[in-house]
Amino acid sequence: MGSDALNVGNLDSLEKSLGAVFERKDLRFLVVDDSGTMRRIIAKCLKDIGADTVIEAADGIDGLVKLKTAGKIDVILTDWNMPNMNGLDFLKKLKADAAYKDIPVIMVTTEAEKSSVLEAIKAGAKNYVAKPFTADVLKSRVEQTLGISK
Ligand SMILES: [Mg+2]
Repeated sequence: MGSDALNVGNLDSLEKSLGAVFERKDLRFLVVDDSGTMRRIIAKCLKDIGADTVIEAADGIDGLVKLKTAGKIDVILTDWNMPNMNGLDFLKKLKADAAYKDIPVIMVTTEAEKSSVLEAIKAGAKNYVAKPFTADVLKSRVEQTLGISK
């Protein structure tokens, strides 16, 4: 058996073990965080669970700019504390815009910001995940948000 065949076999079993969570629905995400490291962590988690495309933005203003050319976005994950435009203001801008108001938003908060989650929910956030989070928690929040939790 050649190494190519082995690799294909491994990929097949990997996909099966992941349960093909999103079953190739061409899911596209926007991840907004001023920390490049955090963006990469979240993007990797999303790709691991089947995200097709993950677009990154560094703050709320950048998020609005990226959305203009992003095409279809299924879920937005946004940090709370960011320069230029924070996550809550970004959320409010989205909810005030007919083009974006229906995109579900997951707030990514720190433990200290957890008490503010209610404010974000009132402003239209669909869900939240508190840092530090595990890949499993992020995955279940995304699934909940997409309405595909099992
Ligand atoms: Mg931040």
